Amino acid sequence: MIMPKTRRTYCPTCKKHTIHKIKVVKKRKRGELSSGQRRFRRKMAGYRGYPRPKPSGEKPTRKHDLRYECTECHKSQTKPGFRVKKLEFKG
Ligand SMILES: [Zn+2]
Repeated sequence: MIMPKTRRTYCPTCKKHTIHKIKVVKKRKRGELSSGQRRFRRKMAGYRGYPRPKPSGEKPTRKHDLRYECTECHKSQTKPGFRVKKLEFKG
């Protein structure tokens, strides 16, 4: 899918339509200190490995996480992500 680099949408801070820059958020590493990650590490230690059933079937397409940054106030917003195999920016 080809997307434009900028888009004119509503900014809740400016309370009007302004030009927004579109950015893709990259996946970051899991925090090793969060309670869920510590529980997972404890469970994985020793015998009996993965606590959840292994996912079966085809791997789903990744959902893209986009941020829309207002060019006037530099606040960024999110909009619901969508699934596409390839995302390209043009213009
Ligand atoms: Zn704004």
